[in-house]
Amino acid sequence: MWNCIVAIQNYKLTPEELQELQNKKLRRLLRHAYEQVPFYRKRFRAANITPDDIKNTDDLRRLPTITRGEIVSEWSSIIAKGKGDGYIQRFTSGTTGKPLRILRDSKSVDRHVGLGLRNYYLLGIMPWFKASRVIRLGSDAQRNNVDSGRGTTLQNNIRKVVIGPWLPRLRVPRSRTMSFRQNVAEVAPRLLQYRPDYLMSRPSYLMALADWFEAHGKKIIIRKILCEAEYLSENSRNRIERVFGGDVYNAYGTNELGMLGSECRQHSMHIFSDYFAFEILKDGEPVAPGERGDVIITGLDNEKMPLIRYEQGDIAIPENGIGCQCGSSFPRLRAIEGRKNDGLVLPGGQRIPPGEIINYAESIAGLKRYQVIQETINRVIVRTTEQDEKASAILVTYLRELFGSDLTVDVRFESEDSFIRFTGKNRPVICEIG
Ligand SMILES: [Zn+2]
Repeated sequence: MWNCIVAIQNYKLTPEELQELQNKKLRRLLRHAYEQVPFYRKRFRAANITPDDIKNTDDLRRLPTITRGEIVSEWSSIIAKGKGDGYIQRFTSGTTGKPLRILRDSKSVDRHVGLGLRNYYLLGIMPWFKASRVIRLGSDAQRNNVDSGRGTTLQNNIRKVVIGPWLPRLRVPRSRTMSFRQNVAEVAPRLLQYRPDYLMSRPSYLMALADWFEAHGKKIIIRKILCEAEYLSENSRNRIERVFGGDVYNAYGTNELGMLGSECRQHSMHIFSDYFAFEILKDGEPVAPGERGDVIITGLDNEKMPLIRYEQGDIAIPENGIGCQCGSSFPRLRAIEGRKNDGLVLPGGQRIPPGEIINYAESIAGLKRYQVIQETINRVIVRTTEQDEKASAILVTYLRELFGSDLTVDVRFESEDSFIRFTGKNRPVICEIG
């Protein structure tokens, strides 16, 4: 609970206080990394600097970035020496490449629990809400044991904070966790019966649920809906809001670093600069507000396995100015456009971010199921269903106009089921060229 109070206090800091807090945490982390983590010590030496040379996020650019590939190949040298406190390990999803093993020390896990609670508090998601999450459950055993009372993170957190670690085995009556590996036709009736006040899932699954509720003429009101893990287009947001009648908020997070940011009640996407140092760069330099850049993140809390200047792989656009009607000074993002590698590459080398393609596709009336896969520089596959034939022709025309006359487009008609049964992240746009 203490971590939650600290986190809420941070939310009210002035821009100067927030900057000071971030710089202080950053300097402490860098000193620790230099002294305890061989990988970073080597990097400091190669750059011919010491932690004293880095006072703030701007100075961070004197260190090189770290990629997912480097974490895999240098894994053992990124772990801090010394015993330290307890830690947890987590395998990130293998959407892009093989799963990655991340270690997080207990203190940082606890702080992030506080961060999650702060977010619930600020969005008005209350502890007494009936909560549902539709997420990917790990093993087959978990998948078959849905509604197992594992509880939402909120409730798990509250049990942990308020009641203590000896309770997690008990069933929490006011939460249901289901898996999006299950067909929508199985999950939707459960939701209808349970009628949660709060639902968390991925936009693509929420859209599929919205389809089900509309097709079956059923109605439930879900007061708060939190979207995670995928690009949320305005079209999807409006539809989810319309069908479920509640407020839809987008959260921004990664498996490697946890929850990085979230929309506030004013629907501004804030990034949590009290726990992370963000850089949004183009050709190594910060972009101006309103411009696209690559997201580079430093996690300020995890000392067990520090990630300093991690190439997150997303493209984002920073928002103008500081301050928000919600009262927070946390920096804001105008858009998170999805993963860099999910865009399309035009023959001239220009990259079109996935968000742009998705926004266009979703503006086409009647287009429900689609996926665009770029195989080579002038060959694209559009997966869709027979029902979407007419609407998908508009998408094909758009792609032809984008690419010029050289483009070959294969349209593949597949079953509805191959689109609504999700095994991983929904990726409407995939680029298979380097
Ligand atoms: Zn705000």
